[in-house]
Amino acid sequence: MTSQRRENLNIVPNGTSWTSVDEALEHLRLSLKPILDFKIINVSDSLDYILYEDIFAKRSNPPVANTAVDGFGFAHSSMKNHDVKLNLCLDRIAAGDSYQGTVPKGSAIKILTGAELPKGVDTVVLQEEVTIKDEKIIFNVDIKRGENTRKVGEDIEKGKCVLIEGTRIQAQDIALLIATGMDHIKVYLPLKIGILSTGNELIQKVSNQDLNKTLDANRPMLMNIVKKWGYSPIDLGNAHDDKEEIKTKLNIASNTCDIIFTSGGASTGEEDYVARLLKSDGNLYNWRIAMKPGRPLAIAKWNNTPVIGLPGNPVAAFVCTIIFGKPICGLLSGEGWLEPNSFKIPAAFTKNKKIGRREYLRARVKNGKAEIFHSEGSGRISSLSWADGLVELQEETAKVNLGDLVKYMPFGGIF
Ligand code: AMP
Ligand code: MG
Repeated sequence: MTSQRRENLNIVPNGTSWTSVDEALEHLRLSLKPILDFKIINVSDSLDYILYEDIFAKRSNPPVANTAVDGFGFAHSSMKNHDVKLNLCLDRIAAGDSYQGTVPKGSAIKILTGAELPKGVDTVVLQEEVTIKDEKIIFNVDIKRGENTRKVGEDIEKGKCVLIEGTRIQAQDIALLIATGMDHIKVYLPLKIGILSTGNELIQKVSNQDLNKTLDANRPMLMNIVKKWGYSPIDLGNAHDDKEEIKTKLNIASNTCDIIFTSGGASTGEEDYVARLLKSDGNLYNWRIAMKPGRPLAIAKWNNTPVIGLPGNPVAAFVCTIIFGKPICGLLSGEGWLEPNSFKIPAAFTKNKKIGRREYLRARVKNGKAEIFHSEGSGRISSLSWADGLVELQEETAKVNLGDLVKYMPFGGIF
């Protein structure tokens, strides 16, 4: 083994045990369960809620056989050869009409899009394809039985499963539910996610005495990430680097929240009270995750409520929320374990990387290739606005060359 390779492998201080991203995720996936609180709501108001149970059609769509075009309806058996001449009925059937008559063989009736096919009609010819002369319609087109018609239930048959439990309802799903006869549905209650910032340096607005302080950027960012995911953020404010203050906040929050995100103090430093507290009182998974950014990530249960102790650096907090927060919240919310969408694209950059560590780079796509931000500093909030996604480099990757395929996760598939 070359000394360079040994150096690459040596990413951890002696005596520290590292957990890989995948190991940590798998452990969480197996140990967490959805929160089974639900309510019944009007379908029209159900956007972004998650279905609590499978839904079965109460009605077929379409409910009756009908015409897909404006044209003339007739029995296909009336056609003897290509030159067709049929008697034109006087009536006309429009969408919503309940036509009681029967169209005799050898006749055709004018029928408009969406109208129910009357008795005696199984096929429709487009009105543009016929000539009308002496109360006859004449056409010469190759037409199959059933052409230009929609069969009853051809989209969904009554009794069939329309959407499955765990579906996050989109506008198009509302259309499907309404069309198949649903008016009220059972949904999971949106996950209540408490967001707490910690750190003595944090301020909420600037005053003259606070020129050396840090504006609390994480809390509004995290509140809005979880809101975008369809959950209910609960603002827990901020706490100083003070064990008792953090403890009190966690005690209160664990009564009202389904999960708590904290930021800051998650490492092992003197002032890192979140990690210490979670370790002593909160049943912490004592992980040092082999990832960059975001190594200090504390995951614990506080009074049985999961707590994700995110790093304070905004970039690390952001990446850990995507990589850990998204699947965990998906699972708790009833939607299921959610992984960011990704695809492979060529790299427009070169990079040397330590083996054994997962890395997430702020990236954006230009001319079909992934560019990365010029700095990897995890306090660089501007990089998050610059990026339109993340590149994920696997543990075993040591070097990325120009043109190598890399895994790109667009923010569009994350938020
Ligand atoms: P910590 O994880 O507490 O050691 O914090 C790491 C870095 O992130 C420090 O520079 C903090 O000032 C910064 N930081 C912590 N919390 C926040 C926050 N809520 N908003 C912006 N920066 C923060
Ligand atoms: Mg701190």
